[in-house]
Amino acid sequence: MTSIGGPDVLTPGPAPDPKPAPGQVLVRVGAAGVNFIDTYLRSGLYPMPVPYVPGSEGAGEVVALGPGVTELSVGQRVAWCDVPGSYAELVAVPVARALVIPDGVSDEAAGSSLLRGLTAHYLLDGAAAPRSGETVLVQAGAGGVGLLLTQLATRAGLRVLTTVSSDAKERLARAAGADEILRYGDDLAQRIRVLTDGRGVAVAYDGVGADTFEQSLAATAVRGRVVLFGAASGPVPPFDLQRLNPLGSLSVIRPTLGHYIADPAELAWRAGEYFGALADGSVQVRVGQRYGLDGAAQAHRDLEGRRTTGTTVLVP
Ligand code: NDP
Repeated sequence: MTSIGGPDVLTPGPAPDPKPAPGQVLVRVGAAGVNFIDTYLRSGLYPMPVPYVPGSEGAGEVVALGPGVTELSVGQRVAWCDVPGSYAELVAVPVARALVIPDGVSDEAAGSSLLRGLTAHYLLDGAAAPRSGETVLVQAGAGGVGLLLTQLATRAGLRVLTTVSSDAKERLARAAGADEILRYGDDLAQRIRVLTDGRGVAVAYDGVGADTFEQSLAATAVRGRVVLFGAASGPVPPFDLQRLNPLGSLSVIRPTLGHYIADPAELAWRAGEYFGALADGSVQVRVGQRYGLDGAAQAHRDLEGRRTTGTTVLVP
């Protein structure tokens, strides 16, 4: 990317091969995940100096070790997230971020879902901590985070109410285990009250943002928590905290993954649990879309245009 803007600023082109610095490994990328954060950086919602190679997660094979690296060896398959420059054939990845992929988990599954899977993990055990038997709302339940969050939540004994925009997405959300699947709308909170004996949900997970935040607030039970974790429809406007009092002494949190994986031990724990769930088949990754590196612009158009389901991957 040499400029900030719409999807057209994503153009494939030659770049010098990265050299692994001390503490880094060089990886040949087998699959690069396409995430909403890539669109925020591309559009300027999150300021980023250009030029840069976009992409924040992926998976592939270690092809060279930087000076002093002993933790990994050439030929191992690793996945990473929160590392810039992943829409590429080669990426230099810090060893602390390079997670060995278990046998039986494909590069595509790991490389397109690690960021979202770790997000789902910290949303359930970090940003909030709903207890087994409680009811939660997952907005955009057929999306990348949505399908993983639904699977992890139902596995933890939670009842999941979720929103989708089409019949096809409804089928995916149901297959992921959601208990009740709803369409968006101004009466969403009312419908959720009916489904929860008037109480509302213990936690509302909202990565849609502007379009859904008010309904998420209105659907949350007294002393419940609204976890606003994204802005797929745009950022939520400034908000008067006093409103949380009459709504039911609610808490609102606006977390970001980086703060829940900064500690290497925490990253290892979350990744171990997430990869374990992929390896034993209790969580499944639905790779909904595949493109070559020259399809990055189209991938962004599709993600922003609500035409994707599950995860989206670029295969160099
Ligand atoms: P998704 O695959 O979930 O795509 C977004 C979905 O949001 C769409 O498919 C669509 O589903 C729904 N949506 C509703 N309204 C709109 C709209 N106006 N424009 C676009 N989409 C809309 O994306 P991701 O899984 O990549 O990410 C989901 C959210 O999680 C994003 O907001 C992202 O920024 C956030 N995120 C946050 C992290 C954090 O740590 N804070 C980390 C990772 C992701 P439908 O058509 O069914 O409504």
